[in-house]
Amino acid sequence: MRIVFFSTQAYDRESFLAFPKPQNAEFIFQQPKLTTDTAVLAAGAEVVCAFINDDLSAPVLEKLASGGTKLIALRSAGYNHIDLEASQKLGLAVARVPSYSPHAIAEHTVALILALNRHLTRAYNRTREGDFSLRGLTGFDLVNKTVGVVGTGQIGEAFARIMAGFGCKILAYDPYPNQAVVALGARYLDLDSLLAQSHIVSLHCPLGPTTHHLINTSSLAHMQRGSMLINTSRGALVDTPAVIDALKSGHLGYLGLDVYEEEADLFFEDLSDFPLQDDVLARLLTFPNVIITAHQAFLTREALDAIASTTLANIEHWATGAPQNLVRLEA
Ligand code: NAD
Repeated sequence: MRIVFFSTQAYDRESFLAFPKPQNAEFIFQQPKLTTDTAVLAAGAEVVCAFINDDLSAPVLEKLASGGTKLIALRSAGYNHIDLEASQKLGLAVARVPSYSPHAIAEHTVALILALNRHLTRAYNRTREGDFSLRGLTGFDLVNKTVGVVGTGQIGEAFARIMAGFGCKILAYDPYPNQAVVALGARYLDLDSLLAQSHIVSLHCPLGPTTHHLINTSSLAHMQRGSMLINTSRGALVDTPAVIDALKSGHLGYLGLDVYEEEADLFFEDLSDFPLQDDVLARLLTFPNVIITAHQAFLTREALDAIASTTLANIEHWATGAPQNLVRLEA
């Protein structure tokens, strides 16, 4: 069984090679992203292992299926990037890693909040230049602040738990309230009320037709002046030009992003030798009150191990006719 991995970095190889291979499996690690042009690299491979910025649109899936692929093993929890209608029509099974480490993403979310609040990037650069002044570095206490958690599944719950530990008041919005979050003292309310009452808003819901541009000009207008928005979920939850307008007017006080709507051609690559072609991202990077990380919230040793072991188990189960963690259209 040939398994072709796309978008692989050194840490992917290390984590997958640390586990026993499924029976008769051959691993082929490809560094390029999966696209219509690179799909040919999977010719003859029964299993394609893909990551979040791989192109899993109908034309790519058609190429994979005609090359003999039978299973798409996603190394991610999110599956908004695969055309499930096409995969089902083509008879391709799709498996994902429903949970690896919600703590990895929740803790990175908190890292963004603390770094923005206490101006850590500015302070770091300043002290390295021998500038030990404190002008412009004033932060705020987190205790007693109100944190709005949009989406209280595994990650939202882990994040709410940490923020409750800081002494924050937790507000939540989710069509399916989570009793563990209620037990933290959280109050569920509608999205507009959550946005209006929160000092910090953090997005932890999946991307889908109902959540695309959930944060837009109108929802930003509901947020408090000077509040903080964090998105470690999926880029297209946020209408980026609308957020830039809110930053320019000062209505939005801080922005922390680990994801970006147009990240697919940028993130995970070293493009530092080239002019940045994305003018929207370039504008975002000019704000001192914005921190952007390149989709690294998942990147802990524990999460990588869990991604590798679950993905390999998914492949093994599928190969023995007892598939697990399948993604279907009706899901
Ligand atoms: P989960 O399925 O456990 O929780 C998602 C929650 O969102 C559920 O409770 C669901 O009811 C809720 N939800 C659905 N639609 C909603 C809506 N319209 N408004 C508010 N809530 C809604 O998923 P999870 O494991 O907590 O992951 C959440 C998201 O985090 C994933 O979908 C993925 O996009 C993102 N993620 C990012 C990284 C990263 O490295 N940055 C890593 C893993 C996951």
